Amino acid sequence: MSAVLNSPANTSASLLATIATNATVKLLINGRLVDSKTEVWKDVVNPATQEVLARVPFATTEEISAAIESAAVAFKTWKNVPIGARARIMLKLQELIRRDMKKLAACLTAEQGKTLPDAEGDVFRGLEVVEHACGIGTLLLGEFAENVAGGIDTYFLRQPIGVCAGITPFNFPAMIPLWMFPMAIVTGNTFVLKPSEQDPMTTMMLAELAMEAGVPAGVLNVIHGGKEVVDALCTNPTIQAVSFVGSCHVGEHVYKLASNHGKRAQCMMGAKNHAVVMPDASKDQSLNALVGAGFGAAGQRCMATSVAVLVGDANRWIPDIVSKAKSLKVNAGTVAGTDVGPVISKQAKMRIEGLIAQGVHEGAKLELDGRNPVVAGFEQGNFIAPTVFSGVKPGMKVYDEEIFGPVLIIVSVDTLDEAIAIVNANPYGNGTGIFTQSGSVARKFQNEIDVGQVGINVPVPVPVPYFSFTGSRGSKLGDLGPYGKQAIQFYTQTKTVTMRWFDDSLTNTGVNTTISLK
Ligand code: NAD
Repeated sequence: MSAVLNSPANTSASLLATIATNATVKLLINGRLVDSKTEVWKDVVNPATQEVLARVPFATTEEISAAIESAAVAFKTWKNVPIGARARIMLKLQELIRRDMKKLAACLTAEQGKTLPDAEGDVFRGLEVVEHACGIGTLLLGEFAENVAGGIDTYFLRQPIGVCAGITPFNFPAMIPLWMFPMAIVTGNTFVLKPSEQDPMTTMMLAELAMEAGVPAGVLNVIHGGKEVVDALCTNPTIQAVSFVGSCHVGEHVYKLASNHGKRAQCMMGAKNHAVVMPDASKDQSLNALVGAGFGAAGQRCMATSVAVLVGDANRWIPDIVSKAKSLKVNAGTVAGTDVGPVISKQAKMRIEGLIAQGVHEGAKLELDGRNPVVAGFEQGNFIAPTVFSGVKPGMKVYDEEIFGPVLIIVSVDTLDEAIAIVNANPYGNGTGIFTQSGSVARKFQNEIDVGQVGINVPVPVPVPYFSFTGSRGSKLGDLGPYGKQAIQFYTQTKTVTMRWFDDSLTNTGVNTTISLK
């Protein structure tokens, strides 16, 4: 599969035809794509058609150890490769990702389901991190102070920490691996990546591009699997840091396990993102943004707007929200003009439909029921059309749980203070937004809201990589984010050097038994 995926001449159509031949996904160990010897395999399924695209292995204990060992050996030399040489590999990688953008997006749509333009967006948001990694020369600079005491200078260096690991979710198979391995390796570490077993093929294409860009053998390794692989990465003594993105229950497990085994850990987890709509908001643009953020990627974004909090007179816009949601086109991600593709799996579809039924049962008003839409030509797809509930209150399951599907719930309040109190009382703190024309309202919201990422008239406020992805409270464990300046801190340790050069021509000050520097 790899050679075909890497051929520049390959078109999206022929790529998909190739994928559909039931290929097996390889492991990347010590610079080589290898067939796993495991007996445990899982199908990678096209969520729009149920076609089996490939089989992914659950790596054996020996394969996991081999990947970690190859990263450990590679670290010995990679950590001293000049910064400029590492940056040039990133420059090449960004060029190759641009070259293969269409192929990456086609593969991503096939295995994940999102629309082709959104798949390109997924790759692009990751590409931005690679571009940022190209500036590692300035990002890695330490600090120097001359004459901190007589003839003594102090400086600090940023040094890589060793072998790091990354564990990624299904919903961004390009962006999230690219949040992790480029920053980890450009800072001089080596890496073992475990992609989601639900859609590992796009991530493998990226890993192959990294090899093509010149990443040396062992610097980036990819192993596949589920809990066993994750637990092995979190407990193996060679691994120094674990970066995880995924659901809360798995993230909490990973954080505890990795921390208990002495590792740095960062876990970016689940969400319930509230958008507060004020009555003075610019109506059409705000509602378009709200609906786009609610149903884009079939609601399977950690930054999706899943709760609209309508304040006062903004409640008169419920019918407009419903009609905009109804106008979205549900179809396979490959069909031009599609707004909402399928959800990732049959199990996810069943879970989301179960939550919708529960919402009805608990008394929320089902304004728009998207269950079981008919999608001609894709009758087997995991489709749920946009669904809207109003009259939702905390305590209802549709409010309390992350639905992670195309379901927007509406909570009505009278005042901005009530809206802020609701958002702050929710256990999640990933993203939030406010739609208003008032600067003072926006400023109050920004100041009082207890959520990591805030959008002001911006529906999905994922920061660009010169900043860092943040998140707070129940959405994040660990204090540093996965890209941007915080990633530099996460993937390096500082070493402070205090230095003096003796000059025999100067007066000898004698023995100093105090802690003071003289
Ligand atoms: P998930 O937690 O099911 O899986 C994430 C990773 O953990 C996968 O690689 C998976 O193989 C592994 N895993 C699954 N079960 C495990 C277990 N019991 N023990 C150890 N490892 C296990 O998440 P998902 O369904 O792939 O992704 C969706 C979730 O990710 C949502 O909750 C979403 O909000 C969250 N997410 C968060 C962010 C963020 O930045 N905060 C970004 C994207 C997704």
